[in-house]
Amino acid sequence: MFHRIAAVLVSLCLGLAFPLHAQAPAALPDLPPALLEDIVTGSRVLADFGVLDGFGHVSARHPTNPKHFLMSRSLAPALVSAEDIMEFDEDGNPVDARGRNVFLERFIHAEIYKARPDVMAVVHTHSPGVIPFTVSKTPLRPLYHNPSFLAAGAPIWDIAGEFGATDMLVRNNAIGHSLAQALGDKSVVLMRGHGDVTVGGAVKIAVFRAYYTDVNARLQAQAIGLGSEVTYLSAEEGAKADATNLAVIDRIWDLWKRRVQALSAK
Ligand code: MN
Repeated sequence: MFHRIAAVLVSLCLGLAFPLHAQAPAALPDLPPALLEDIVTGSRVLADFGVLDGFGHVSARHPTNPKHFLMSRSLAPALVSAEDIMEFDEDGNPVDARGRNVFLERFIHAEIYKARPDVMAVVHTHSPGVIPFTVSKTPLRPLYHNPSFLAAGAPIWDIAGEFGATDMLVRNNAIGHSLAQALGDKSVVLMRGHGDVTVGGAVKIAVFRAYYTDVNARLQAQAIGLGSEVTYLSAEEGAKADATNLAVIDRIWDLWKRRVQALSAK
């Protein structure tokens, strides 16, 4: 009798203490909460900046099973929480879907993780600043030090090259593989008439690159509009500035975490 009463009391207390968790599917319990939070922060801050809108996604390589990766269920990035993050295998199949919908373009992530062992995070956006450069012969080049990773090159991948007339989406592994080949060893690849993909050795780096790819694209269009010749960072300047950016990235990442916390508190 005592045990039954105790059990009821315990469950009542848990229910009061964790009312949201009682309804939401459990987060992936064996993963570092900080990694899941990084995916949440990246998704929400890029949405807040207008780099992502209702579409696009942020993923991370699984920390202990490097063939797998972690990504939200199909959800607008501004709404992603740690509880929404799911595990996917190397081909982009959900490990334990439990009825949840998944992103159609998860093959972008699967095929890049397969092709690039150094990549620990991937961001896919339709960022408005970048779109003109996906359809132009004017290459995206770094104007200033923050987007210095662009100095190594920002190739344009055209889905029509291998797949003809499509709906433009990376909806299977073959298309994802083609995109990953176009990315090569670079940090960013532009997708003709669609958007871009940025990668990095951590979630904060891929997110930083998604943000500054968009900012650079907007500023580059302005600089070109001034009408005279534009001076870009050289490859050597880009490599040096990129190393410095990576050394100080926590300053802006901490700011972006606070920005997301403030948004969530509203
Ligand atoms: Mn897309």
